[in-house]
Amino acid sequence: MHCYDAKKSATFISLTVLICLLSACSKRSEPVAEKKPGAAVPKQDMNVLLITLDTLRADYLSCYGSKSVSTPAIDGLAARGVRFAKAIAQVPLTTPSHASILTGTYPQIHGVRDMGGFVLEKDVPTIAGILGKAGFDTAAFVGSAVLNRHYGLDRGFVTYADQMKEESASQKLPGVVAEVRGEVVTRRVLDWLEKRQASSPGKNFFAWVHYYDPHFPYDPPDPYRSQHPKNLYAGEVAYTDAQVGKLIGWLSEGGLLERTLVVILSDHGESLGDHGEYTHGVFLYDSTMHIPMIIAGPGIPSGRVVPQQVRSIDVEPTIADLLGLSAGEKAQGVSLKSSLMEGREPMSNYCYMETLYPRTSHGWSELRGMRTDEWKLIVAPKPELYRFSNDPSEAKNVIAGHPADADRLQKKVWEVAGPPQSLGKLETKPVDDERRRELDALGYVSSGRKEIYIDMSGPDPKDRVAVLGVLERASDAMNHDRWMEAAGMLEKALPGDPTNPLIYKELQACYENSRQFDRMEKICLLAIENKAAGDGTYADLGEIYVRRGDLRRAVEYMETAARMNPAKVDNLNNMATAYLHLGQFAEAERALKAVLAQDSRNAMAHNLYGILEIQRSQPDRAREQFELAIQSDANLAEPYMNLGLIAQNAGDTQAAIGYLKGFLKRADKVKHRDVIPKVEAALSDLNARR
Ligand SMILES: [Zn+2]
Repeated sequence: MHCYDAKKSATFISLTVLICLLSACSKRSEPVAEKKPGAAVPKQDMNVLLITLDTLRADYLSCYGSKSVSTPAIDGLAARGVRFAKAIAQVPLTTPSHASILTGTYPQIHGVRDMGGFVLEKDVPTIAGILGKAGFDTAAFVGSAVLNRHYGLDRGFVTYADQMKEESASQKLPGVVAEVRGEVVTRRVLDWLEKRQASSPGKNFFAWVHYYDPHFPYDPPDPYRSQHPKNLYAGEVAYTDAQVGKLIGWLSEGGLLERTLVVILSDHGESLGDHGEYTHGVFLYDSTMHIPMIIAGPGIPSGRVVPQQVRSIDVEPTIADLLGLSAGEKAQGVSLKSSLMEGREPMSNYCYMETLYPRTSHGWSELRGMRTDEWKLIVAPKPELYRFSNDPSEAKNVIAGHPADADRLQKKVWEVAGPPQSLGKLETKPVDDERRRELDALGYVSSGRKEIYIDMSGPDPKDRVAVLGVLERASDAMNHDRWMEAAGMLEKALPGDPTNPLIYKELQACYENSRQFDRMEKICLLAIENKAAGDGTYADLGEIYVRRGDLRRAVEYMETAARMNPAKVDNLNNMATAYLHLGQFAEAERALKAVLAQDSRNAMAHNLYGILEIQRSQPDRAREQFELAIQSDANLAEPYMNLGLIAQNAGDTQAAIGYLKGFLKRADKVKHRDVIPKVEAALSDLNARR
């Protein structure tokens, strides 16, 4: 997964007196419980701790033979339990792979086909739902915004800790997907465990803990950074291992470890240059598909190694089986209980894998594959077959010499993926069905729904590794704020791959961050012309026209972006802001309703709604909205000022002073530089009158 995601520098529009900001921020509340009284009763009395290590290659753990890093905590689990030497992920991407882990199904069933644009199918049971019904306390703690509850992986969890706004997050390199460091995740888990140990110690828990740290960019804290100065990825792995050690240590000290089933695996590996890929997502080679997997806990033998291939879809049926519960009728994985307990061979030796990421991000052909202990077939414009007994590094394509094996594996691919003649359009599903109905009613979704062609058209990704090299070098420059250097490389690569959406996206980010908005506009328009534009392209154009004061044109592009992907609430809030300026209140309201339908606690939307009510001379309703904004995010400054102005107008000097002080306390010196002096003047005026 190539990872540069532009963080927006806030664009500023000031309404005559009341201000609001482009670029939304929202703070999520704790989720609502969805636990139903269940019939299933677990036969085994134990807790379950599922730990997923993002982007962790198996051969970077010492128990898997790593020489570059030592991982004592995870090695300790392997010594106490069973280590699967050849565990294979289904998709080399975080969100789809986690959906497979949590549901025991391939992407065709769980529906999370790619990063963004898909939410988990409602009728596919999750391990959290199954354990919740069986009476477990359920909680998840995720380290990255790519596992935000929006994608539906929160289903079945009573607690879903996915807030990414943490003090420590600001120390990360600029321009990457929001994440929190492992220590923040660990602290949240231990806080939760401590609280529930005090309140309901007799009840079993199921906790899913996700560490994102090994994901690019590699930025380990000290001492792990200085211990691995030449290999920061190894430093991240060592840091993550230490976090796992803290969790396990806490369970052990509290006497809980002996009655806790611990399942630890990664969602995919990292290429680190193998096959011309640097991160993950484009290819289906073992560098990213082979993952570590260890299961330890009550009754599980110590030190066993299962040499045969197993899959991440086997995790959910295995946990259910170990507890004496049913995995649900949709599960495609098999229970590994007899492998764990008796060392028997797993029941299935066929492992399907796919990635749509080359298609959706680069405009290249998507890839599918089938792996057994002996073979791997990759279905691509130029198909590949590897034989592991002779060639574990997948260096020699032997398809010409083994047509019958290739044919047999190919049939297995289509058994999972559906017949090849069915390949074609795949419709994205950026929101769940309930939201979709609400958004349809507001006029979004239907007309602009995005389609992805998964028909193996486009270049074979392996013929484009040179572009991957450029993107890698550019993204490194971008992560060190060398925007123009990156732009130069990308501009040079563009003519050779003019339909690659990622090149445009990164160029947009380079020009936005170096404040070259004319160039940014040109790149966006070129992306549209070359059919490489996504909803982000249209949203970016909207923001460019806002900066130029061309609001009519801005809302046109923002509307297109909203129809393509109504799940991007920032775009909807920006559009509402522009409509407020244009005096088109009905349109502003429609956009705000679309935000609130998806996130009822979106503070920015409530603040904008309040401004809309002011425009409609409805101060009481406005006050209600500003108060909701504060309840949703107490750190958002604007609603304090707006409430202060309402109080001032109503002659309530005392309240006005309180709110305006509240604004100044939260105001950002740069963002609010035009407003702060006005508020200060209003305050001294009010104080004089008191
Ligand atoms: Zn991942």
